[in-house]
Amino acid sequence: MSALLESYAAGTWFRASDDGDPLLDAATGEEVARISAKGLDLTAMAEHARTVGGPAIRALTFHERAAILKQLAGFLNEDKDELYALSARTGATKRDSMVDIDGGFGTVFVYASKGAKQLPAGTVIVDGDDEPVGKNGVFAGRHIYTSRPGIAVQINAFNFPTWGMLEKFAPAFLAGLPSIVKPASQTAYLTEAVVRKIVASGILPEGSLQLLCGSAGALLDVLDEQDSVAFTGSAHTAGVLRSNPAVQNRGVRLQVEADSLNCSILGPDVEPGSAEFDLFVKGVVTEMTVKAGQKCTAIRRAIVPAAKADAVAEAISAKLAKITVGNPAHDDVRMGALASLGQRDEVRKAIEAISASADVVFGSADKVDLIDADAERGAFLSPVLLKARPGAVEAHDVEPFGPVSTLLSYSSVEDAIALAARGKGSLAGSLVTADPAVARSVVRGLAPWHGRILVLDAVAAPDNTGHGTPLPTLVHGGPGRAGGGEELGGIRGVLHHMQRTAIQGSPAMLDAITGE
Ligand code: NAP
Repeated sequence: MSALLESYAAGTWFRASDDGDPLLDAATGEEVARISAKGLDLTAMAEHARTVGGPAIRALTFHERAAILKQLAGFLNEDKDELYALSARTGATKRDSMVDIDGGFGTVFVYASKGAKQLPAGTVIVDGDDEPVGKNGVFAGRHIYTSRPGIAVQINAFNFPTWGMLEKFAPAFLAGLPSIVKPASQTAYLTEAVVRKIVASGILPEGSLQLLCGSAGALLDVLDEQDSVAFTGSAHTAGVLRSNPAVQNRGVRLQVEADSLNCSILGPDVEPGSAEFDLFVKGVVTEMTVKAGQKCTAIRRAIVPAAKADAVAEAISAKLAKITVGNPAHDDVRMGALASLGQRDEVRKAIEAISASADVVFGSADKVDLIDADAERGAFLSPVLLKARPGAVEAHDVEPFGPVSTLLSYSSVEDAIALAARGKGSLAGSLVTADPAVARSVVRGLAPWHGRILVLDAVAAPDNTGHGTPLPTLVHGGPGRAGGGEELGGIRGVLHHMQRTAIQGSPAMLDAITGE
């Protein structure tokens, strides 16, 4: 039997009292680890965060916290071999692992730098200028941000076991909050390995970071009004959490990043053979295949002028035909496996549902040629491109969390905007156009439905970070169906963990309160 993952709770590594459930290698089906939280004392974890971790972090200035994050990111960057080996077992190729592992460490670095440069030297943030509120100049208003004496709970999805934890941890730590991290069970062995490194380094004050491996159980029961939960995962689980009494009745703040049917729009000005046409095609193929399409920001809907839909389908199909699928550790493989056989079943069901009003134009839900891998034991799937029939419904409603995208035709710019909006709110959208007038009307139409929009032309191409890449400096989150949350976004990502309070008093009194 493989090793049972442990939770890092109240200053020690906790081992469950049973054998746990097996976690299988996404590519080979072999058991990687087992997981269980049976017997874990969640009340003691919350108490440890409140009485040990929180006070220790808040005793540090913003700049001291930033320096710790910098040291931590540097330390984690030193030796990644073990993490890369574990990441391959989640189905990730080397390139996919870079997005998760190096992307996670890079995010900590960026927050360290932002904290040092953009936060004040002390522990309180003054927000904006004073507001005069009386006629005599003896009474004013000043807004401040202070750290909450609470806990930041992080519940993460399976697709980014490293980045998912660190992109939430870094801003919470800067804000003065201890974190309790609950990774998705399927890939928790990679998160556990990162936390083991962090704990062993001794860089963080004890209690700043605890880890819950296994079911979240009654975690929300031990939270109260100073605590928050940042959730990334399915809309279904988000709904369960939203109706939890901790959120409904006890004032626990819940931030949600959920499903998202992101779109990329090809501008009406773009002709086949142009640089922009190639950028569009490349973007769709990249988003379909990186992490085997298991990215919350991936392009699920490619919205193109009706007259060019066939040319786009042909060009995307030609590129997809070159994507080699198989053992993620093999050098010749471009796309690895989905996280589990269960996930593959889910994606197959989604393809079937979308097929009610779309036709498969590339790939197959049932057949895939593999390099150095077994299609029965590993969760492999061919990239699948569909083309929607007129009036298609399902492509706007069903999220295939895998290497799947659907082409939709539009008749006018207004039609393209309306189709995009049928995703009911997305994390990321993109537009490929060389025409500023098109960019102006499409982006203004798309913005209320999106957390981030990338506009791409041949000029911007050399620095293009990609449709699906969340950046620590920019908003990650989206309205409506995407959950309504907003993570990252530079210092705003820190501030939303803190309490903003208006203080009224004489200028001297305000200075005494806010000065360090
Ligand atoms: P999921 O089933 O909703 O699970 C997400 C997390 O919630 C896991 O850690 C899971 O733990 C936990 N969980 C499940 N039931 C819970 C409950 N009753 N109380 C507390 N925690 C609970 O989603 P997933 O399958 O891991 O992830 C895939 C989905 O995530 C996709 O739909 C994708 O769109 C979405 N996603 C969104 C973003 C984003 O930023 N918007 C990013 C990545 C993924 P266990 O694993 O132990 O069940």
